Amino acid sequence: MEYDYIVIGAGAAGLSFAALMEKRGHKVCVLEAHTIPGGCSSYFERDGFIFDAGATTLSGLKIGRPLYNLMTELNLELDLVNIDPGIISIIDNKTIHRFSEPDKWVAELTKHFPSIDHRPFWDKMRDIEKRGWLLVSSFQKIPLRSFKGLFSFISPKLILALKSVPELYRSVETELKKFNIKNKDYLSMLDEMLFITAQNHRKETPLLMGAMGLCYPEDTSYAFGGMKAFAESLAKKCSIIFYRHEVNKIIPLQNGFEIQTKQQVFFTKNIVSTIPSWNHAKLFEDLKGKQFFESQVTNPQDCWSAFMIYLTIPKNTERKSLYYQIHCADIPNCHTRSFFVSLSHCDDKIRSHSERQVVTISTHTKTSQWLEGDKENYKLKKEETSIYILQQLKEKFNLQESDLQNIITGTPKSFIKYTKRYKGLVGGIPHSIKRNPLSYAIARSPYKNFYMLGDTQFPGQGIASVVLGAQNLCHYLTTN
Ligand SMILES: Cc1cc2nc3c(=O)[nH]c(=O)nc-3n(C[C@H](O)[C@H](O)[C@H](O)COP(=O)(O)OP(=O)(O)OC[C@H]3O[C@@H](n4cnc5c(N)ncnc54)[C@H](O)[C@@H]3O)c2cc1C
Repeated sequence: MEYDYIVIGAGAAGLSFAALMEKRGHKVCVLEAHTIPGGCSSYFERDGFIFDAGATTLSGLKIGRPLYNLMTELNLELDLVNIDPGIISIIDNKTIHRFSEPDKWVAELTKHFPSIDHRPFWDKMRDIEKRGWLLVSSFQKIPLRSFKGLFSFISPKLILALKSVPELYRSVETELKKFNIKNKDYLSMLDEMLFITAQNHRKETPLLMGAMGLCYPEDTSYAFGGMKAFAESLAKKCSIIFYRHEVNKIIPLQNGFEIQTKQQVFFTKNIVSTIPSWNHAKLFEDLKGKQFFESQVTNPQDCWSAFMIYLTIPKNTERKSLYYQIHCADIPNCHTRSFFVSLSHCDDKIRSHSERQVVTISTHTKTSQWLEGDKENYKLKKEETSIYILQQLKEKFNLQESDLQNIITGTPKSFIKYTKRYKGLVGGIPHSIKRNPLSYAIARSPYKNFYMLGDTQFPGQGIASVVLGAQNLCHYLTTN
């Protein structure tokens, strides 16, 4: 066996796991289909500008949280700046700044929604959020393979965190009813925030994940150099990465695995795969693997893809945040009533060489919209969606048509091409009270020494969560 671990995928999950295991003295090799690292947290360069391809924000940087721990342990070279307000919601004539400081946030909400007593609801959200992080970081003994494993993983921290279990079964909506919050704009603000953090709306999002999602903007950072800097800083910590190596077959052997790519065959005792659950079935030929991976996956129809617009606009230092959620009517061919706008920092000379800011816009769409139908229809839909969003952007940001330059659009097809994700499904699996919380468990597979990580496995979506998954698995493998 050449390697202790072969990691499939150089996204945030794969790179974090590989770097952490290498630091602990293991021989690790990463196989990545694309030519660069990052996956959904990747980037591309065009006309001298560096665009974030998918993810744009870093969260979980407070002391003790996943990215803080990762940066500290690996000594990552990243130039970060905290962004506060972490998001600005623009709803008709309201511009709502999501300040991180509790009193400032309550005052901002009171200014826009004076008839609501905001503090009790947000105090509760913050309390649940703290327990939520405690709960997910307690799962270091995952995957549980036996009752023995179950007992050894019970700890005082976990017992405290278990207070949160009922919050997995109650929705955010139930909590809002308790506080008698009914204002339409307010509920819409919460719904759209939940869509980008939990991939679901308030009526279905469990209170626990909902609280973590609603508090997410309190801990938002920007990396100078964007996701390129983030992905490259992690990749630097991994000695062996083979790019352009798409894994297309895995053969279980008596004492390990054979992994085939077009270029090479690899042998390893352990595999850590970070590609989405749905992608696995086609990699196995033996019935055991095929049947497991086909039965294990969540219904892809419940999941989302993204419609993307990348562009540049004139630099404006007056803007109060780098992250905006613009509310609007139904976006053609998309499924939420808002889009998320991320700007490069005005002082970021790595991403922009001129007096312009680099912009990434994303919104939720269903993959079927874009994979069915002919080429002409696809092109028309792309135009229709992009014209609508850019019109809204111009109005809300007070821009002229000529201000918008270097425009590029992306659809689920782009995610298939660049990340190989099944049907272009991104963002993980939506959190839902309809989902059995036990089905979140976990990096299991029918094979000994084959583990799974990433945003379709526990603890799910977002960079902070996939990094936490990597940290938990690393802890499990090195302490058991
Ligand atoms: C539009 C958008 C915006 C987002 N915004 C944010 C945000 O602001 N903040 C945040 O925290 N999260 C955000 N997310 C979510 C975040 O990007 C993901 O949850 C996270 O990056 C997933 O990382 P991963 O390693 O699990 O998977 P991936 O990023 O998908 O990585 C998997 C890697 O495996 C490679 N691969 C696939 N198949 C193979 C194969 N057969 N062989 C070899 N390699 C293969 C892929 O090329 C890819 O590099 C966003 C996601 C999207 C799509």
